[in-house]
Amino acid sequence: MIHYQSTRGSKYIKTSARAIIQGIAEDKGLYVPNTIPALPFEIEDMMGKPYKKVAFEIINAFFEDYTDDDLLRCVESAYDDKFDAESVVPVVKAGDGYFLELYHGRTAAFKDMALSILPYLLTTAMKSENEEKKICILTATSGDTGKAALEGFADVEGTEIIVFYPNKGVSEVQERQMITQEGGNTHVFAINGNFDDAQTGVKKIFGDDDFIRELAQKGVKLSSANSINIGRLIPQVVYYVWGYIKLVERGVIKAGDKINVVVPTGNFGNILAAYYAGEMGIPVKQFICASNENKVLTDFINTGTYNTNREFFLTESPSMDILISSNLERLLYHLNGNDAGEIRELMDALDKHGKYTVSPKINYALDRFYGGYADTARANGMITELYRKNGYLIDTHTAVGYRVYEDYIAYTGDRTPTLIASTASPYKFAGSVARSIGLECGDDGFECIKAVEEATSVKVPYCLQGLDKKPVRHKGVVDPGEMMDSVRSSL
Ligand SMILES: *Cc1c(COP(=O)(O)O)cnc(C)c1O
Repeated sequence: MIHYQSTRGSKYIKTSARAIIQGIAEDKGLYVPNTIPALPFEIEDMMGKPYKKVAFEIINAFFEDYTDDDLLRCVESAYDDKFDAESVVPVVKAGDGYFLELYHGRTAAFKDMALSILPYLLTTAMKSENEEKKICILTATSGDTGKAALEGFADVEGTEIIVFYPNKGVSEVQERQMITQEGGNTHVFAINGNFDDAQTGVKKIFGDDDFIRELAQKGVKLSSANSINIGRLIPQVVYYVWGYIKLVERGVIKAGDKINVVVPTGNFGNILAAYYAGEMGIPVKQFICASNENKVLTDFINTGTYNTNREFFLTESPSMDILISSNLERLLYHLNGNDAGEIRELMDALDKHGKYTVSPKINYALDRFYGGYADTARANGMITELYRKNGYLIDTHTAVGYRVYEDYIAYTGDRTPTLIASTASPYKFAGSVARSIGLECGDDGFECIKAVEEATSVKVPYCLQGLDKKPVRHKGVVDPGEMMDSVRSSL
């Protein structure tokens, strides 16, 4: 049976259910499968099958301790008509790529793909592991995870959900989505800091043994809805396999042919899921990792040195404004042949000096990753171009991905068919999108939604309609040092 172990070598191994409940390992490492399973089917056998079927097969291959009945129920409950696209994830050809539209869920960003199922995976795990404590989901967000987690966990029995987001570090629509969240168990705080401050604060709380004990006495256990939770990561593997199946179905490729994958990257969760799909047997030639001005990953892939000692930029792709990409730790662990020793040293160095340099072994294995970046002007230029030439609208994050992809083609001449992760609805970042296609709408995100809707034939996602009229329910603003107290006061 596949089990889950920490990237930092803790001797405790876990079932997937236990790893999902716990979120992060006791030595602060991340849970990883001890082996990545092979695809449990032939690609041809999945042609024409619904998304739910592919999702069940892939997740089942990783989470072997869930019974088939339980997992089926999770998948059925997650990928239902909450998604406003019948296929759940449409694959759309535009320009030079195939866009994997991951934003048709309840919050109009790709985080819904995993956070629609995580609450079911977690509550199922609590039952099977006889977990009696209340689970408190603690989440740092760069804008999209927070809302998707709030929607997923609102009023889920046995859970509380607390979200911290960077004050002024998210778009108006993103903020509005979070602070209007309903549900008796939801708590939202803006923090005076950026996403890294929020994420570091959350990790600190997870690592504070005294606080964990204090909560345990109150019958509360912490878990995470961030992509440090393996229950977030594995459901994201599904759509890369799905995208490949669609390309085979349409005759773009034959089963066994290689593809490239482009991912606009922040915390490295989404691109790591693509890597897992590759390790399962989806033939991927290059994983193209796209960053905005916060190009710490581009530099890392090109040099082998990860260095966070640099200026931090607030960009128009805020969900990628991240300098500490948590999930990279998992990739390094796998590239290192599942050896925790070096990983522990690297993460120590990151803590102490804000940087590290990987061994030649890891550096060599990074060859399958191409790193590139695009600043706001170059990225948003792609929104303009795709709309003018193809009538296709993408958001600011996807635009970073597409720009880097076009740079990749120019640099390599590689025309291998390519899936591009399209991570948010253009309406979620309507101001930037409107300006990019030549519309005037000022600073009001909601005015911009209207302007884009009137000028294009693209439908506004259901979840964003009427959002500006919803009452604000969460008003807390705290300093990073007050996060622990915020958790106390919420419980
Ligand atoms: C979260 C997010 C990303 C970055 O994804 P990671 O898994 O953190 O790399 C990119 N685009 C959007 C719209 C997001 O919400």
